[in-house]
Amino acid sequence: MPEGKMSGERCIQLSLDNKCQLFGKPERPSVCLSIAPSLEMCGEEPWQAIKWLLDLEKATTPNLQ
Ligand code: SF4
Repeated sequence: MPEGKMSGERCIQLSLDNKCQLFGKPERPSVCLSIAPSLEMCGEEPWQAIKWLLDLEKATTPNLQ
């Protein structure tokens, strides 16, 4: 995504089963490499990771009013 990824925009590198198609490849963006998975972030089920992302998105969305 040469123009960057908007907040909330699905990465074009995600496969249909939500796996990074660049994982382990040198072209994976450095920002992605800098994020270390943790139990707090990933949870034990996929829905917990999605909730964490949505909560983070909500907490960091600027108030546009
Ligand atoms: S780790 Fe980075 S490149 Fe891979 S799917 Fe997620 S945002 Fe896209």
